Formats: sequence, structure tokens, C-alpha cells
Amino acid sequence: AKKAGSNMIRFFSPNMNIMVLDQLLAESRLLRAMDKHEFMMFYQPRLSLKTGRIAGMEALLRWNHPKKGIVSAGKFIRLAEKIGLIQRIGEFVLASVTRQLKVWINQGKTPVPVAINVSSMELRGPKLKESLQYLLQETGLAPQFFEIEITESNLIEDLDRVRQTLTDIRKMGITISIDDFGTGYSSLGYLSSLPADYLKIDSLFIADIVNNRNMASIVETTITLAHSLGMQVIAEGVETAEQLQFLRAKGCDQIQGYYCSRPLSPSGLETFMQRIGEK
Ligand code: C2E
Ligand code: CA
Ligand code: CA
Ligand code: CA
Repeated sequence: AKKAGSNMIRFFSPNMNIMVLDQLLAESRLLRAMDKHEFMMFYQPRLSLKTGRIAGMEALLRWNHPKKGIVSAGKFIRLAEKIGLIQRIGEFVLASVTRQLKVWINQGKTPVPVAINVSSMELRGPKLKESLQYLLQETGLAPQFFEIEITESNLIEDLDRVRQTLTDIRKMGITISIDDFGTGYSSLGYLSSLPADYLKIDSLFIADIVNNRNMASIVETTITLAHSLGMQVIAEGVETAEQLQFLRAKGCDQIQGYYCSRPLSPSGLETFMQRIGEK
């Protein structure tokens, strides 16, 4: 009891210090994660509602934490940005996805395009275009295997420069997607000026399409709008058959979400593809 008492004092008196300590501990763990090879990529397939086949997949970063197990990107990506780790993560992601694509090709599989999330810092940095160019040259992989996802809210600042970068990347044959659409402040004019192939409607809107008429009409209008601008639409966070049916009826091109599959490890993905009869 005495011991517990002293712990109480240590842990509960200066509340702020605990938070600061936790934060520091998390930061130092995350900083070391790269050198300890604790990062890995998971892949989430997307389904084409036109063909009924897997049309692509998204590469999602995971931290294989020694104590907590597999930790999702959503839990640590902000911190990674804050502590300046995001550039190295970006390099890791590109290298990791490339290596994986080559493995699949060597196994005689025909991989689908892989979408890579690009942080705002990478997008504004000088190296993204060069890294991609170098990667295509060095590996001989077709640019059609690569897609870049840019979060809508990252586009607002520096629009002219970003637009130029995206145009150049697209000229290389790499597909561009606007991610998390609907969560930023886009105007129609601004959207039409972006060189993008796909619009990904944020899961926030998809979650409610079956029960909320406003959400349903927002989604429906967005699909029509994207099509009129020559973009295809991917709905994110699709979890139910009802959502799928609604989206198909409204002409949505592709869906991504737990209804189709959770993000999977490479071997999990191979099993999934075999099970549904795709190589
Ligand atoms: P995002 O790009 O919008 O990715 C989709 C997120 O939704 C992923 O979370 C995914 O696991 C989750 N998700 C997929 N389907 C469903 C569903 O049906 N229901 C629900 N509730 N969630 C679903 P995750 O992997 O935690 O990633 C969170 C965010 O972290 C991503 O959002 C992306 O912005 C960022 N991120 C992930 N991987 C990377 C990366 O390699 N590099 C960078 N820069 N950012 C990444
Ligand atoms: Ca994404
Ligand atoms: Ca998204
Ligand atoms: Ca998101």
C-alpha cells in the first residue's frame, strides 16, 4: 500500500508532466521505429463497380509496435509530421511499395495500381517529382502501377506550384487522386483547375448516405460533378451492402472500405486475391 501511495504521488500530482513525458516517450519510440524496421505497408483493395473486379489498392503505413502490435497510420502520422519523420517515411513508402510490386511481378502476378499517400510536406518539397522519376527509371516499372493521393486540404496553399508539380507527375503517366474530398474548402472552380484523375469522397459522407438525405444528395451531386470534370469517383469507407447499392445506382465508379476488405498485409492480400479468383 505504501508503494502504491508513492506511485500515486509520482504519477498523479503534476498532470502536465505526465502528458509531456508520455509525449516524449512516444516521440522517441517513433523516431527509433524506422531504424528498428518496425514500419511496414498494408494494402487495401478497391473494387470497380463497373467490372466487379479489383481496380487498385491503397498502400497504408503500419507500425509494428513491439508491445502494441500493428498500429494504424491514423494513430501516429500527425506525430511523425510534427517530429520531422515524414520525409523519411515517404522514402520508405516508395521503396517498400516498389519492392512489393517487383515481388508480385516476379511471382507471375499482374499487380493492380497502388495508390501512395503523399504528405503536404512531400508535395511542397523539391524531391517528390525527382524521386518518382528516378524510381521509374531505376526499376523499369510502368508508371501505370503508381497512383498518388493528395489530401484535399493540402492543396489550398501554394496552389500554382502544387498544380505544376501534379501536372508534371501526371505527364510521367502516374495517376493523381484527390483524397478526403468534401472535408476541405474546395470550390468548383478550384477543383476544375486541378490535374486529377480520381476524386475520393471522404468516408464521413459515405457513413450516412443510407439514412441521411442531405448526405445522399451531397454524394450524388459530387459524383455528377466529378464526372462532368472528367474524373472518376472512389467512395471511401464503404462498409455495407446498402451503401454499395446506393453508390452503384448513382454511378460511382469504385468503392473502398471494409465491405470489400480491410487493409491487409502482403500475404493477407495474396490470400484475398486467390480467394476471390484474381491473380
Ligand atoms: P486515408 O488516406 O483517408 O486512408 C483511409 C483510412 O481509412 C485508413 O486509415 C484505412 O485503414 C481506413 N479505412 C479503410 N476502410 C475503412 C472503412 O470501411 N471504415 C473505416 N472506419 N475506416 C476505413 P489509416 O490506415 O489509419 O490511415 C489514416 C490516414 O493516415 C490516411 O487516411 C492517410 O491520410 C494517412 N496515411 C496512411 N498511410 C500513409 C502513408 O504511407 N504516408 C502518408 N503520408 N500518410 C499516410
Ligand atoms: Ca488516402
Ligand atoms: Ca481518404
Ligand atoms: Ca483521411
